[in-house]
Amino acid sequence: KLHNTILELKGNIRVFCRVRPLLPDDGGRQEASVIAYPTSSESLGRGIDVVQSGNKHPFTFDKVFDHGASQEEVFFEISQLVQSALDGYKVCIFAYGQTGSGKTYTMMGRPEMTEQKGLIPRSLEQIFKTSQSLSAQGWKYKMQVSMLEIYNESIRDLLTTNRTIAIEAVRADSSTCGRQYAITHDVNGIHVSDLTIIDVCSIAQISSLLQHAAQGRSVGKTHMNEQSSRSHFVFTLRISGVNESTEQQVQGVLNLIDLAGSERLSKSGATGERLKETQAINKSLSALSDVIFALAKKEDHVPFRNSKLTYLLQPCLGGDSKTLMFVNISPDPSSTGESLCSLRFAARVN
Ligand code: ADP
Ligand code: MG
Repeated sequence: KLHNTILELKGNIRVFCRVRPLLPDDGGRQEASVIAYPTSSESLGRGIDVVQSGNKHPFTFDKVFDHGASQEEVFFEISQLVQSALDGYKVCIFAYGQTGSGKTYTMMGRPEMTEQKGLIPRSLEQIFKTSQSLSAQGWKYKMQVSMLEIYNESIRDLLTTNRTIAIEAVRADSSTCGRQYAITHDVNGIHVSDLTIIDVCSIAQISSLLQHAAQGRSVGKTHMNEQSSRSHFVFTLRISGVNESTEQQVQGVLNLIDLAGSERLSKSGATGERLKETQAINKSLSALSDVIFALAKKEDHVPFRNSKLTYLLQPCLGGDSKTLMFVNISPDPSSTGESLCSLRFAARVN
């Protein structure tokens, strides 16, 4: 059947769509006419329709979460994938969509509120929990974290800005596992000058690093949302496992990526700095699409070098690595055009 062929072709690339709830700030009450869910009685289906000027545009993905899907439900669907990083797989999970569509909510959520925690804190909790339970079978894991953002095609280390504070925070907690921090300057053989990579051995340590990274991103509080929506955020957890009885070894990587807003330029007629930003974002998002498309089609040439993002993630894309793209959608009627663009982008790599 055609369907099976498509699934085979796709290999380890999956696309999930998530529609956020309508918010008080959104424009209208007519959301039902904008997006319809074929499985209206459930929060999880596979189809989504966008209605624009009376025309229905249907899309199908590996999963579609409607506005009622909780953070827990979403995490449940990716927990296997997260787990596979402990088994030595290289995993990339992206959030794609226009600004305000729920990317950061999906990835980070509100870590201080149990129910609203996003994929990053939930993934880390699961990984630490599982790694501890595997120690009974002789497994010892070493975990390292780095966090960076890519802004205008240049990489900014989010742990460098506050490196001293970040290290102090980790050191303060290191008594719990007796291990010291480490700083190295190399990511999977891809050289990033002076990137901070820190050994971690508890959730508390990673939480404090996440906080410091968030501070590193906000250059002046008013610019925070602004700036973060114009840059790609890349959280990387490297996992090395050794089994002391069987001498098996695994090297897994979990990359969680909150992409820059995908909105198009046209209406604002941006110039200067803004224009440059938008061009850099467009360039890297289309480079990402090209790479995933080439991987899905198993093409010989995969154009990794066309953007910093794909270049940096090259060792974690392709081969037997696993990739998941969330396409985040706003139900706001004024976003219909952008939603169609996002869904078409996602449909191309699906
Ligand atoms: P983005 O990162 O794509 O710009 P955000 O994640 O910041 O978008 O989401 C925009 C707003 O919508 C935020 O106020 C966020 O809390 C809210 N939001 C997004 N997704 C959900 C959701 N699934 N449930 C409740 N609120 C959400
Ligand atoms: Mg965001």
